[in-house]
Formats: sequence, structure tokens, C-alpha cells
Amino acid sequence: MSVKEEVIKRLIGNPRCPKCNSEITWLRNYQSGKMYYMFDPENSSIYEENEFQADSKVNYYNCPQCAEILFTDEEKALKFLRGDLSGR
Ligand SMILES: [Zn+2]
Repeated sequence: MSVKEEVIKRLIGNPRCPKCNSEITWLRNYQSGKMYYMFDPENSSIYEENEFQADSKVNYYNCPQCAEILFTDEEKALKFLRGDLSGR
């Protein structure tokens, strides 16, 4: 990150949650789908090496502080985190 970018970042600050007003640097993403595990009773850790296949029925991004659902669209969530509020 260059010096100029650091200054801009400090002046603008992080985006804030419209509900609880917390500064947000990341969002929780929930997706529905199927999770596969390797189930092996002979192994000491029987649930290992999982694979997730999203089914796109549920996909939302919420505030890590108050759990308010802020976005259901990855592009808008990215724009919000990058400080482009016009993307909401
Ligand atoms: Zn919040």
C-alpha cells in the first residue's frame, strides 16, 4: 500500500453498518448447500477433508457485530467493503 492510499484510507475510515454503526472490515457470508466430509472411524479425526457445494438458495452477507443482513449480492458486498457506498 502506498503512502497516498494509507492517507486516504485513514481519512475515509472503514464502512459502517447502517444498523449498529460499527466499523466493518469484513462480513459474514452464509451460503446454503451440501457439505461433504470424509467419515472414517479408523481415523483419529473422523470428520476430515470436507467439500462444500453451494446450491445458491441462500447467500447473504451480514454484519459481524449485530448480524443484520446487509447484502445478498457478492458484488455489492465487495463495493461496500471497498468504501464505494454508491454500490448499495
Ligand atoms: Zn451491525
